[in-house]
Amino acid sequence: MMNMKLYNTLTRTIEEFKPIQEKHVGMYTCGPTVYAYPQIGNWRAFVSEDLLRRTFEYLGYTVTHVMNITDVGHLTGDNLGDADLGEDRMEKAAKKEGKTAWDIAKFYTNDFIHSRELLHIEAPQVLPKATDHIAEQISLVQALFERGLAYKTDKAVYFDVAKFPAYGKLGGQKLIDKRVATRDELVEDDQKHHPFDFALWKLSPTDGPRRQMEWESPWGVGFPGWHIECSAMSMKYLGETFDIHAGGVDHIAIHHANEIAQSEGATGKPFANYWVHIAFLTVDGGRMGKSLGNAYTVQDVITKGFDPLVLRYFYLTGHYRKQLNFTWDALQAAAAALTNLREITWRSQQEKERTVLSEEKLALIDGFRKQFIEALSEDLNIPQALAVVWEVAKSNIPGIDKADLIKEFDAVLGLGLADWHPESFEIPNAVNQLVVERTSVRDEKDWAQADILRKQIQALGFDVQDSATGPIVKKL
Ligand code: AMP
Ligand code: ZN
Repeated sequence: MMNMKLYNTLTRTIEEFKPIQEKHVGMYTCGPTVYAYPQIGNWRAFVSEDLLRRTFEYLGYTVTHVMNITDVGHLTGDNLGDADLGEDRMEKAAKKEGKTAWDIAKFYTNDFIHSRELLHIEAPQVLPKATDHIAEQISLVQALFERGLAYKTDKAVYFDVAKFPAYGKLGGQKLIDKRVATRDELVEDDQKHHPFDFALWKLSPTDGPRRQMEWESPWGVGFPGWHIECSAMSMKYLGETFDIHAGGVDHIAIHHANEIAQSEGATGKPFANYWVHIAFLTVDGGRMGKSLGNAYTVQDVITKGFDPLVLRYFYLTGHYRKQLNFTWDALQAAAAALTNLREITWRSQQEKERTVLSEEKLALIDGFRKQFIEALSEDLNIPQALAVVWEVAKSNIPGIDKADLIKEFDAVLGLGLADWHPESFEIPNAVNQLVVERTSVRDEKDWAQADILRKQIQALGFDVQDSATGPIVKKL
């Protein structure tokens, strides 16, 4: 059995993965901030992390995957290099949409769970919300006070980076220099000791309207800083030291550097042993952003007529440490490839009888399996693993065995190849859930809401008709 090798941002080398507990991986991945629909860049990170999890499972590990839901405290300032500045994304979205921050969180959390299913991302075993873990975050801040690593100003409680010499070890001096260069004009609180000190607890402003999300604390009414939730929740569910922490490359310099400082500062123990960072997705060769009109969502992909799994296939074509460029043409190419692979797999499994395999064919199958595992083990080389799948598809392995092997590999790729067949269709979970929801609002005679849900079902490429025995779902 090959050992898994992974690039560790902490050491800036590819290392052999050594778990804390034999054949077990504790993995924490930074989840969505639930103030809007995630864009396809976020989904690239989530799908890449899912591929990592599935790879470990394929290699015989059990994985405990924890992914947080950020539903408070993530301010807009991190776009400028300081997560302590700006407005709370949740409260800003609430104002814009005319809902409460709690409703916004609920709506986008549910949407995230639906879209996650559409993209075949396995459900994390724990999906903790920041707002459900306020007490844990407060205790962690208290531990930092006890160790002399925190101080209070009139506006907030901060982590004192000067007292933590290892600050910024993730990402190295280059990233620190870059932050210094952009930092000076951003300081908002002149009682801060050092510009890199970051908020552990923010006190609610005493002027202006009251915040919707705020809690009592030993330091006054307020809300947690963004970074502290990840430290508190990862250590609660995975222990003070765990195996893997992952997220997008944008988190290296600030969010993850701060998570390390808080966690190691409080416990005196190493936090995560391996740091895995996913490179960015670009669109049409450039940055993606809401203001550029190219921050596409999963719903945009569906509206353009693509199966969400086509997007997943597209992600498989790039190595996670290289930037990947999204274009609609590239998605079209992914659609053609996925259809082809689905048809080959389906046709292969139609053969009625299993041929007795020759020594040569058995060796061929073993060889493919070895190459597939080798690709995965070399720092999760998914494009290479996908190339092996194509070699299998084009090989002369007899039908049923070919389909079996492709389906075995699909446990990692997650393209649902085992379930696909040409004439019939699967009703996706998202459609099913909408149909169930629609039935219940119809029972309550809420026809307007039933119509809205029907339109959502149609947007997913399906229609629903009501019959005496219940709803009938059709493909459009
Ligand atoms: P956020 O909701 O902003 O915390 O982002 C969720 C995840 O998506 C994080 O791991 C980010 O690092 C990642 N991410 C954000 N934008 C992109 C992008 N364009 N490409 C890849 N990953 C991204
Ligand atoms: Zn995080």
